[in-house]
This record gives sequence, C-alpha cells and structure tokens, in this order.
Amino acid sequence: METTTTRAPRIGVMGGTFDPIHHGHLVAASEVAHSFDLDEVVFVPTGHPWQKSNVTPSEHRYLMTVIATASNPQFTVSRVDINREGPTYTIDTLRDLKQDRPDAELFFITGADAVAQILSWRDHDELWELAHFVAVSRPGHVLSTDGLPSENVSQLEVPALSISSTACRERVGDDQPVWYLVPDGVVQYIAKHHLYRSKA
Ligand code: ATP
Repeated sequence: METTTTRAPRIGVMGGTFDPIHHGHLVAASEVAHSFDLDEVVFVPTGHPWQKSNVTPSEHRYLMTVIATASNPQFTVSRVDINREGPTYTIDTLRDLKQDRPDAELFFITGADAVAQILSWRDHDELWELAHFVAVSRPGHVLSTDGLPSENVSQLEVPALSISSTACRERVGDDQPVWYLVPDGVVQYIAKHHLYRSKA
C-alpha cells in the first residue's frame, strides 16, 4: 500500500516597516525561500514600530507591500500587525501567525542590522519557541548572531543590495529617481500619493 507523508508547511515571515518596500527586502525573502525550501513567505508590515517615529500611515505601507509582492505566487501579505493596537512587537506577530497556522513551521527573516538588536526585543527568550530565525547579510552591517541560540538561528549570505527605505525616502524628497530600487508599481504608487515629498 502506498504511504504519503505530509510535512508541516514551512512559512517565512518577513517583518518590516516597508516605508517603502524595496528590492533589498524582496531579494532577502526570495533567497531565504529558496535556501530553506519554504512554501510561502508572508510579509508583515508593522503597525506602530516601537523603534521608529514619523512613519507613513500603515495603509500606504501595506498597499505598497501588496503591489511589490503581487507577482510572486509564494509571497503573501498579512495585516496582523496593522490590525493590532499599540506598538508592534515581533513576539506578538509570531504568536498571531502561529495561532492562524498552528500546523506551520515559521522562519523569521531578519537583516544583519535587525538581528543585532534581538536581545533588546520584548520577550526575546520566547521568540525561539515560535520560529527559527534566519539572519541575512546586508551591506554596511556585520552579520553576527553572537549571543543567540545557535540551534534556533541560521545565517545566510544574500546578494548585496545597498538599498534602504531611508535612502529611498530621501531620494524622493530630493527629487531623485527610485526606479529599480523599488518595484515599478511602488514607484508609481509613491508618485500618485505624493509620499515622501516633505520627509527627507
Ligand atoms: P529604514 O531605512 O527606514 O530603517 P530598512 O530599509 O532598514 O528601513 P525595514 O523595513 O526596516 O527596512 O527592514 C525590514 C527587514 O529587512 C529588516 O530585517 C532589515 O534588516 C531587512 N533589510 C532591509 N534592507 C535590506 C537589504 N538591503 N538587504 C538585506 N536585508 C534588508
């Protein structure tokens, strides 16, 4: 008799402010999906980032994320952080996603700059119970996972794209192009809604 084994769905979680989403985010997610044999990567725009101020309204950031990910069948976008009141903490993001998909194995994707901050995140001791962490390289930052539990954290070198949302916002504010730094639809969305004009 034929036996079929089903494995738990492997879901990447790409959290970020995405103000705006850029190709550095997309390449990181795509590389992790490939290297870790993920079935899906869910992008989770933050509601109210506790470490950043003067952030663009969440609906704009959410819609830019939807536009940027629409062409990739593996990519989805979640509103869990946007819908939750109060500051966004990754522990809540993971708890909510795990509640929605109790069968899934979660892989939280984070850049070299963000991973260096993890020990300052709320309830960081519990993060490892909810997801495996994948720390990706990022130009201008040393990729180090020192101090983090090695069985729960992996490192991955990804193609180096020296792009940040801050630089994209500054370029728009300075009337410089962001074509090819962010997806075409995001360039058009930024122009249509006059985003970042006075924010550089
Ligand atoms: P800002 O410049 O506004 O701080 P950002 O470009 O760092 O924004 P975020 O939305 O804060 O973008 O980043 C979300 C996640 O993506 C973080 O884990 C960050 O480290 C990672 N990331 C951002 N840009 C890159 C990049 N160019 N290469 C690899 N990872 C990146």
